[in-house]
Amino acid sequence: MANPKKTNCSFCGRSKNEVGMLLSGIEGHICNNCLQQGYEVVKEELGAGAKDSASGLQFDLVKPKDLKAYLDQYVIGQEEAKKHLSVAVYNHYKRLMQPVQEDDVKIEKSNILMVGETGTGKTYLARTLAQKLQVPFCIADATVITEAGYVGEDVETILTRLLQAANYDVAKAECGIVFIDEIDKIARKSDNPSITRDVSGEGVQQALLKLLEGSIVNVPPQGGRKHPDQKMIAVNTENILFICGGAFDGIGRHIAKRLNARPIGFSGDDSFHKSFEQDQIMKYVSAQDLKSFGLIPELLGRLPVITYLNPLDAKALLSILTVPKNALVKQYEKLFEMEGVKLSFSEEALRYLVEQAMQFKLGARGLRSIMEAIMNDAMYEIPSQENLKEFNVDLAYAKAKFERTVFHQIDFVA
Ligand code: ADP
Repeated sequence: MANPKKTNCSFCGRSKNEVGMLLSGIEGHICNNCLQQGYEVVKEELGAGAKDSASGLQFDLVKPKDLKAYLDQYVIGQEEAKKHLSVAVYNHYKRLMQPVQEDDVKIEKSNILMVGETGTGKTYLARTLAQKLQVPFCIADATVITEAGYVGEDVETILTRLLQAANYDVAKAECGIVFIDEIDKIARKSDNPSITRDVSGEGVQQALLKLLEGSIVNVPPQGGRKHPDQKMIAVNTENILFICGGAFDGIGRHIAKRLNARPIGFSGDDSFHKSFEQDQIMKYVSAQDLKSFGLIPELLGRLPVITYLNPLDAKALLSILTVPKNALVKQYEKLFEMEGVKLSFSEEALRYLVEQAMQFKLGARGLRSIMEAIMNDAMYEIPSQENLKEFNVDLAYAKAKFERTVFHQIDFVA
């Protein structure tokens, strides 16, 4: 009789013919079924461990000052936003570390709302934070979501992306960060209820409520619309930090109106609001202004931390080009260095680049596309040029290359 050790699975005893695959070890074999089962057990055990950390056992807390110092390495300016974010994120993860006790003080979630023009660093801040905290992070666009049952994506698909970022490790995803962009685009269309439903505005705000406040949501693992036969993954959003961002074009008017309506301290003198610069007024943004803009009070109630980002001036854009850890200029220098060429930019060339970016009003977003337009020819030619050791981009070169490409109408969205 044949030795069963040699041809059967050492765990379930089934023979090679009964299973799809038999892997051999020093002492015996394991079949694909037992291997799969073993994997599930290990995954579940490790998953449970991660859950413990979510409730406070193994989470690595980073203090607000350290978080801000980290952000400073990458993001130029935006001091207020960085401070607000650092504190909110610290408190959020402190909350996760709070031992679970029945009648203890319950710390509420500190979801964040960032108001700032496009390209001022809202997404970048959120992404950099997630990078530091090493938690799953995803970006969702509020404009593609519609109320359930209408053309567009269900609100739950936001969490599909988070699950994907966490490699479908639910416990990990449950302590992740979600950035919801363009939240201003789902503002209520008008103050008066109309006969047509506002399915991409107020309807979406309503749908977001349950996600933001913390509940168990059934998420379609591959995204798309939910359908009855689909296997869902239950995700608890209680410990997911939501950061929302939007440009809120024209909110300055609401702020000015509110400030002017408040008589104390400004009575009889309306030079106060007149003297506001548009970009200075943003720092007074409050929930009330966002409500006037069209966000529903219930949503605002779930976004307790409100912060703003300054528009980037020429000085800030110039710093963005050269100072941060992965500044654009440093990235191009690295690319050229790999060809054995030392790349340099003249101060005037960089200023010219900034001037162009200012004209496009895309904040720092435009810098990359303009840089690409200027450098593309050089990046095409230089790898085939032997003996070239240095390459300098001066004003004349930058101008010539950029002016030529502008006529070809580049897509300036980074
Ligand atoms: P938005 O405010 O529209 O979300 P992003 O965060 O997407 O803008 O910014 C686009 C790009 O511009 C970022 O990837 C980053 O490279 C750069 N950027 C924007 N703001 C800053 C900043 N304050 N400091 C450094 N880089 C920035």
